[in-house]
Amino acid sequence: MPSRTEAMSCCPVCMRDDINARPIESAVPYNSASMFENRTNKDSAVFFNCPACGEYVATECDCVNLKSDPIRAEWDPLHISSLLREQTVSQLPSFWLRTGIMEPYGSLNWADRLVHIDVNELLQRWPRTVGERIDRTLCNFVALSHHGGDRVTIRSSVDNPLAFAQNIGEAIFHRSALVDSQLVEVMPPEPGSSNIDIVVTSKGWARFEDLTRGKSDEQNPVFVAMWFGGESDTQRQAMDDTFKRGIVPAVEQAGYRAVRSDLVEHNDWIMDKILGDIRRAPFIISDFTQHRNGVYYEAGFARGLGISVIHTCRSDELGNAHFDTAQMNHVVWESTEELCKKLYHRIVGSIGLGPYPPPK
Ligand SMILES: [Zn+2]
Repeated sequence: MPSRTEAMSCCPVCMRDDINARPIESAVPYNSASMFENRTNKDSAVFFNCPACGEYVATECDCVNLKSDPIRAEWDPLHISSLLREQTVSQLPSFWLRTGIMEPYGSLNWADRLVHIDVNELLQRWPRTVGERIDRTLCNFVALSHHGGDRVTIRSSVDNPLAFAQNIGEAIFHRSALVDSQLVEVMPPEPGSSNIDIVVTSKGWARFEDLTRGKSDEQNPVFVAMWFGGESDTQRQAMDDTFKRGIVPAVEQAGYRAVRSDLVEHNDWIMDKILGDIRRAPFIISDFTQHRNGVYYEAGFARGLGISVIHTCRSDELGNAHFDTAQMNHVVWESTEELCKKLYHRIVGSIGLGPYPPPK
């Protein structure tokens, strides 16, 4: 077992030592399928506040895993650092960062406002193109601005992660691209300071709204695209159960409302209503069990509008997924209980908590 002092001595992601770390209560059940031996049923967790990586939680044993050379060679710690920082500046619930396989472990009650996330799952959010990195940099700058015209200080020593950059050169490139597009203005630096102040322009705020429009109506119902038909009453009943016991409680616990495409047959009039519901939704959930064309179509329509899509699929049907969505990171489930739990974590982790209080 690592000592607590050792785990808390530096940020296990970027290795900085000018951090705040405090222990938090946790009981981590032994996970026999884990690929790591550094895990016991007595592991405790640490809440980190790192100037570069922001706020997150890792268990003491996972701190050892995160700092180990073979693991650091597999994952890019700079990417993890950026993604954790993005979560912090967006004021989404902090991540409980885990290494190992996906099954959740640890005591997390709803009130903790922490989201389990596996390192590999987190890394899938890495912006793949330069354009996407520039857009997400702008979103970070907006998130740090308290109001229009607010000056945000970018510290050269710790703020490369805000620009999804591997080094200072890349950070400057992303920032310059925003300046060239007149989305951000750079203020004259203080003499002798290596920090710079930036201001998001009105054009920058408008661009941010365009980028996040799909999420902007969080009061509206989440659209659930799934097939409610089936050849037998049992099949139809099973899908109805999936919706009522797997999806609705997860959506409501996360603070949203759900609406279903409650129509077995699509016709033109109904399609207009469905497309309108998708347009207004803060995000959509597409369950690909039974692989109906309508579900693929609705997911594609939402993605085209820049609305987030959460993919779910029953485990025995995952192998049949069509090529274009087979590579997406599906929430894979066997039982409605499992779907509910995993879906809740996915919603809170990728979208954030919604505006409605969770049901008692
Ligand atoms: Zn760090």
